[in-house]
Amino acid sequence: MKKKISVLGSTGSIGLSTLEIVSHLNHAFEITCLSTYRNTDLLLQQINQFNPKAVCIVDNISYQHVKKELSTLKIDVFYGREGLLKISQRDDVDLMVNGLVGASGMEPTLIAVQSGIDVALANKESLVMAGNIINRELAKSGSKILPVDSEHSAIWQCLVGEDIKDIRRIILTGSGGPFREREISSFNNITVSEALNHPNWDMGKKISIDSATMMNKGLEVIEAYWLFGLNKKNINIVIHPQSIIHSMVEMIDGAIKAQMGVPDMKVPIQYALTYPRHINAPWERLDFFKCGSLSFQEPDFNRFPCIGLAYKSLERLGTACAALNLANDLSVDYFLKKKIRFTEIPKINEAVLHHHPWVKEPTLDDLKQLDIWVKEYVTNHLI
Ligand code: MG
Repeated sequence: MKKKISVLGSTGSIGLSTLEIVSHLNHAFEITCLSTYRNTDLLLQQINQFNPKAVCIVDNISYQHVKKELSTLKIDVFYGREGLLKISQRDDVDLMVNGLVGASGMEPTLIAVQSGIDVALANKESLVMAGNIINRELAKSGSKILPVDSEHSAIWQCLVGEDIKDIRRIILTGSGGPFREREISSFNNITVSEALNHPNWDMGKKISIDSATMMNKGLEVIEAYWLFGLNKKNINIVIHPQSIIHSMVEMIDGAIKAQMGVPDMKVPIQYALTYPRHINAPWERLDFFKCGSLSFQEPDFNRFPCIGLAYKSLERLGTACAALNLANDLSVDYFLKKKIRFTEIPKINEAVLHHHPWVKEPTLDDLKQLDIWVKEYVTNHLI
């Protein structure tokens, strides 16, 4: 029996890599659902190649177009946010790959988990927004979250065979992004194209900006907190500009395990699909004699205030991490649209984190209210 896979965000960076993997492992996997925001040309090609049972197009006009194109085929065509939620709970899916961008990825993760579907999670914002709710539902349904984020996949691989009680700390590595060495006084003038230009990883726009502000590493600290259940003091960051070590785990006796390889998202994606096995793959391997020296530095909290905001939000918990994440989704979007400067991203994020109406144990409804509040507050008071 082939494992049935759905891919949310199939025309994005994670989605494309996932489909590449499925096409080389097509004896083991079949694609049953795909979704896109509005990249209809690419979606139609993917439908042609993978023959899914259902698709969802979030944008309404694009949906009308695809619906027309597919009118003679037996494919369920859904639309909008509701459509995403529908394809996240189908019984013809064993594993959902969530490659959506930002907070909008959270509810599909939650619905899949509640429906007993395993989730290969690239959308870290799901856990940042609703880690407590998702963990509660995981315990109820028995579904699994399989981390796709390269750092969390690395830690997950290092933890195989270990007892969590023997772990002293986990060490998330980060490249430091494109501005690790740029003069701080010129951060005000950072352009969108400079910020999108990541030295090691080829990724979508939102995560590339998050890497440039290092909010990404902060969100990953929060993600690790919910995935691995360690105290925030024992989740550390080390800057490692070469991105060869994808993260590390330190045991209580001082032994350290590191997971390494070329920086290619296909490795963690495939491991989430083939877990608990590693399966032969066609891509480039790490060549120790060509990769050069590996170096390590302390993270600079002054240069990248977003990292400190993430730790602060973990101190407060409740809605704090969600507020920070919602603010960041917005500020990054404004920066990409050239409405604010690069240096305003952490300022907006901080203001929302401090001023939002904090709730101790938020429900899904509280998070939806918070989403509305953050949008209103940022547009009326901060932009
Ligand atoms: Mg990552």
